Amino acid sequence: MKSFKLINLTVLLTSVALAGCDSSDDSSEDTSTSTSTDVSALHSAYAEFDTDNVSVALSGTDVVIETNGLPNHTSPYWSTDNELFVEPTVTSYDEMAPGNIDDFVGTYTLTVAASPEKASTSSSTGLGAIGIAVSGSVIYNDEEGPGIALDNAVGSLDYNGAHTGPQSFHYHLEPVSFSDDDSNLVGVISDGFFLYGRKCNSTGTYPTDLDESGGHTAQTQHSDSEEYHYHIENEVYLGSYYILFPGDYQGTASAIN
Ligand SMILES: [Zn+2]
Ligand SMILES: [Zn+2]
Repeated sequence: MKSFKLINLTVLLTSVALAGCDSSDDSSEDTSTSTSTDVSALHSAYAEFDTDNVSVALSGTDVVIETNGLPNHTSPYWSTDNELFVEPTVTSYDEMAPGNIDDFVGTYTLTVAASPEKASTSSSTGLGAIGIAVSGSVIYNDEEGPGIALDNAVGSLDYNGAHTGPQSFHYHLEPVSFSDDDSNLVGVISDGFFLYGRKCNSTGTYPTDLDESGGHTAQTQHSDSEEYHYHIENEVYLGSYYILFPGDYQGTASAIN
């Protein structure tokens, strides 16, 4: 609907002058002023996303994140002739899921609020992509399929807790290529809240005040004040892993198409 990404800058610079002439785009919202509805700048966390695979743009009060689904790191799931291919270590050729990363080049688009807010009630995640990682690939929850527990598929996961199929190369576990027991940004969840590693930048260690979704309100390396965000919970899974996002959405989730 609101496809004029560049208009945000114009609105920012000349919000008063534009208040009366931008009505074709937002007729109900622009009768007084645009500054309360449009967002002037992307959250600085979005600068962490890989620019080769992911594009991020403001659209009014929303952020549109689009990725080709490819990870910017090595994996045994790349075709052997790809420069990012590595031999399997955590998994094995016998256990790996069918398909190579190269088979899943696509377009995955997520639109979230630029300033997301918690919903009045939480909502469960579903199968398929529930977030987009800074690497370019998508994030799944702790289920492998309808009625199939992740435990049954762990053997196929590569050293980043990721594998292929049926629609994407995707992460289930802590992706150690870009978050390994630290406070790094992992990605954005479909409700617009950011997902960080197991530690919080506000304290430098594991947060102790997380809600049932692994979230809390604290300052991050990307914010000047406290804001709600998720963490990979520091709970060991199957001896040596950490599940990325087993909880419910605390905000209002959008589909990733
Ligand atoms: Zn999976
Ligand atoms: Zn935190």
